[in-house]
Amino acid sequence: MADPATERVLRIEGLCARVADIDILTGIDLEVRPGEVHAVMGPNGSGKSTLAHVLMGRPGYEVTAGSISLDGVDLLELEPWERAQAGLFLAMQHPTEVHGVGLESMLVEAARAGGRDTDSVRAAMLVEAARIGFDEKLLDRHVNADLSGGEKKRNETLQLAVIGPRYAVLDEIDSGLDVDALAAVSRRVQDATRESGLGVLAITHFSRLLEVLEADTVHVLYGGRIRLTGGPELSERLEAEGYAGVLGETPEPAPAPSGAGFGDDPFTDPLG
Ligand code: ADP
Ligand code: MG
Repeated sequence: MADPATERVLRIEGLCARVADIDILTGIDLEVRPGEVHAVMGPNGSGKSTLAHVLMGRPGYEVTAGSISLDGVDLLELEPWERAQAGLFLAMQHPTEVHGVGLESMLVEAARAGGRDTDSVRAAMLVEAARIGFDEKLLDRHVNADLSGGEKKRNETLQLAVIGPRYAVLDEIDSGLDVDALAAVSRRVQDATRESGLGVLAITHFSRLLEVLEADTVHVLYGGRIRLTGGPELSERLEAEGYAGVLGETPEPAPAPSGAGFGDDPFTDPLG
């Protein structure tokens, strides 16, 4: 058996978490190894973003059971910035605008914190911008300031590529992207799995992300738990049959207060 101290894996075991006194995640088990792409798909309100936030250590999200480790390091003991330093990256579903902090300054500080060369950051930003078709002029903005939804997603991808983490959680990186941008972003992430062995947890509603980004494994999250795990064909089944079809006629109700509507349109957000 592999030595847990040296084994390279992002390991989530029996993870339960609550927000605002409501249990949202009710036992998540997931392992992402270097170079692997795991897709997590699920309807609105199933707990996908909660999982992303809990992995990164967002304040207000309380872990009530289970563990998260990154290459043998216990993440639950660490602050969000320390988790980033340990090699975890989160591309947020709704990237935050950080007025007053330049993108380049942030990436230079990230390089410094990661013990990497800071002189090459600007050059790396230019290379990555060209690679994903991100307008060079936007590199001098403050972090995400006044960017369109699609530009923010490209900006997150650029940060991911420049920082070069070991594992990335992508929370709906596909939302708001047009077809060309989606292809460019997916290709860049896919390349990172090959070039630097990036391990990816790709949270998405739609199988179209997985047309370029080749998932090794697809997990269906519903009601705060992973109900089903399969190969890439599972995302195609979800597209054709919907969540209700794939999970069976009467999936257990979600524990979340939303009731996570499971009607005709699985993408309807019951909370709006
Ligand atoms: P998904 O990303 O799968 O759409 P989320 O993880 O965002 O789902 O939300 C899961 C459930 O947790 C929803 O019912 C949502 O309303 C609830 N939730 C998430 N964050 C909070 C919060 N900060 N306060 C209260 N409820 C929350
Ligand atoms: Mg979400």
